[in-house]
Amino acid sequence: MKTIGVIGGMSWESSTEYYRLLNRHAKARLGGHHNARSLMLTVDFAQVEANQRAGDWNALGQQMADAARQLERGGADLVMLATNTMHRVYESIERAIGVPFLHIADPTGTALRAAGIERVGLLGTRYTMEQAFYTGRLRERYGLETVIPDEAERADVHRIIYDELCHGNVIDASRAVYQRVIESLAARGAQAVILGCTEITLLIAQEDSVLPVFDTTALHAQAAVAWAIDSE
Ligand code: GLU
Repeated sequence: MKTIGVIGGMSWESSTEYYRLLNRHAKARLGGHHNARSLMLTVDFAQVEANQRAGDWNALGQQMADAARQLERGGADLVMLATNTMHRVYESIERAIGVPFLHIADPTGTALRAAGIERVGLLGTRYTMEQAFYTGRLRERYGLETVIPDEAERADVHRIIYDELCHGNVIDASRAVYQRVIESLAARGAQAVILGCTEITLLIAQEDSVLPVFDTTALHAQAAVAWAIDSE
């Protein structure tokens, strides 16, 4: 099995999910006592979050590139980034390493196309919902049209991610907020919803949603394990 390198810590609450899912998928595929061979480099989210708020994407690109290089030096055969938002700077990572990079939107786009979805709702941080780096890739590579929440809903979705989920606080009232946002995406023609932030999986499961859920954390982890096993 190849070694998966994970840039984690954004936040570590979702990185623990990645760790669990990588190993769970490896065991499901290979049985017995198999684990996923993996390395995780946990960055300091305080610095990342401050640079995001300052809009300093150049500094963030350098931080992510440094982390990716460290993982490659440590023996990673593949690098993945355990956050949707930081894919804004994925090109800095790809330039920094000689091993493949697994973009989180790719397994997500592939799963949506396989399910016959054409118009999909997107929940994530403001950066992911509002900037073109994510919706553009889904449109250009997978022909997907995305529907994003309105301004007030986006503010709620973003706040709940940073103020609650990134601190590990999973609150019923916030689940209800997300459920209402998903209902309004459905009313605007979305056929499914992307949980496009790696912490949303802590709050929303399929049974909480009127739309089919495409969980980026789960899809990303599963794709990495498939790659690590199948490209051996
Ligand atoms: N984990 C989140 C995401 O998937 C947000 C935290 C971050 O800004 O990286 O977008």
